[in-house]
Amino acid sequence: MTSKTMNKAEETKILTKKKPTGFVAICQCGVIVGAMDYERTERREAGKLLGTWLHDGCTVEPRFNGTWSVTVENCRCGTGKTCGEGGAE
Ligand SMILES: [Zn+2]
Repeated sequence: MTSKTMNKAEETKILTKKKPTGFVAICQCGVIVGAMDYERTERREAGKLLGTWLHDGCTVEPRFNGTWSVTVENCRCGTGKTCGEGGAE
C-alpha cells in the first residue's frame, strides 16, 4: 500500500495553475475517509470541509482528472472517524 502525502510542490500547484476537480481525505491509517467533488461544491463549503479534514489529522489530496472515483471507507484507527461529510453527531 502506498500512502502519499501532499508535498510542497503539489501544494504550490494547487495554489497556482491547476484547478483540482476534487479532493480526498486520507486518514493517518491510510484509509480514504472522505471525498469531495470540488466542482459541485460551493467554495465556502469546500473550504470548511477541507479545514475539518486537516483539523482531524487527515491528509488532503487533490484530484485533477475529469473523472475520478474513490472508495470511502470507515477509518481503522479511530483518528479520522469524524472526517467525512456533515459530521454525524
Ligand atoms: Zn484512521
